[in-house]
Amino acid sequence: MTIKRVLTLVSIPVLLFVAFLIGLAVWVSGGSGQNASDFIPEELDNTPYRTYEAVVPDSPLTLRHFVSELEEINVSSSMIMGEREMVLVATQATKLAAERLADEIEKTGLNLSIVYLGHAHLDHSQGASVLKRRFPKARFLAAPRVSELQKLRMGSDDERAIGRFGDNAAVPSVPFEPLDSKVIMLEGREIQLWHDHYGDVGLGHHDEPHTVVYIPDLKALLPNDILYYDAHIMMGGSTPENRAKWKAQIREWMKMDIAVAIPGHVPRKSTAHMTPKGVFEHSLNYIEAYEEALASSETSEQVINKMLQRYPGMEHTSALYMGTYINFQEIHKLMNNPRLELVASYLPSDFVRWADQQLFEASKDAANPH
Ligand SMILES: [Zn+2]
Repeated sequence: MTIKRVLTLVSIPVLLFVAFLIGLAVWVSGGSGQNASDFIPEELDNTPYRTYEAVVPDSPLTLRHFVSELEEINVSSSMIMGEREMVLVATQATKLAAERLADEIEKTGLNLSIVYLGHAHLDHSQGASVLKRRFPKARFLAAPRVSELQKLRMGSDDERAIGRFGDNAAVPSVPFEPLDSKVIMLEGREIQLWHDHYGDVGLGHHDEPHTVVYIPDLKALLPNDILYYDAHIMMGGSTPENRAKWKAQIREWMKMDIAVAIPGHVPRKSTAHMTPKGVFEHSLNYIEAYEEALASSETSEQVINKMLQRYPGMEHTSALYMGTYINFQEIHKLMNNPRLELVASYLPSDFVRWADQQLFEASKDAANPH
């Protein structure tokens, strides 16, 4: 037998195997359970946007709380309005939600001067791409540490946003420039910036920086993803230390005279009965319940089932699933693909764990500074 003939005999099974792998990869990639259309609302919730008035006499400031729909993951954007000018805190996750937010801003006739970002997560930053086009004079600002992270993540954020929202992704990312200040002035009134707080981590670092915006004229607290209401909280990536600081902050706020607390995510219909006490208690109780579930469970499924039983019918379950898969480093489950799960179920569990670990480290690497 010639060498050539041996090579041919060996290479046929190899070629067949490679073809099988390619076919399998194509089949798996077509099985994503997440469709971009799942993130487009079929109808809009007609609960009126809630507007809050200043509690300080003669202050020109008001606050309007815009929330996107359930399919758009109920993201809060806060319009802080003076008589001529507006500061916006947080954008939206998708293009459609950001366009509706831009329409609401336009209707006020005010000049949007600043768009402020409290933490570097794409569900709050991507909409800047729409706002930059609609309001070219607005400045996009964040605390220096938040700005650094957001700029670092722009590439991977765009990829993730397109993967999740398809044509409805708000891309490309807009950089939020660093503002090294503890205050923003709006028509002579103070908006305070409380830096380096603790909250939702995700794939980031456990001391991921969050800036809390506080408006003294309204006694209004805008802490983004440190507080949630009537919704599952993103607990992925958090540690016992980080959660202890997170809970301590909320307990401090409970002692303060706060008139308005705007959570990062809230079902729009729930804003009608939302109070600061309700928001604080929901967030604190949820973190404690999650810690109990985590401590008493061996698997991600057990944690998820315990939380679903504890909060039947509650919305924003994607945060529960994603956060818990991150905590158990089961990255393949984040892809929401039943075909991938089927293939993984036939593979040795040690190999799946190893592959998850590699993916986890790579994702973490891309999301954090070095
Ligand atoms: Zn969020």
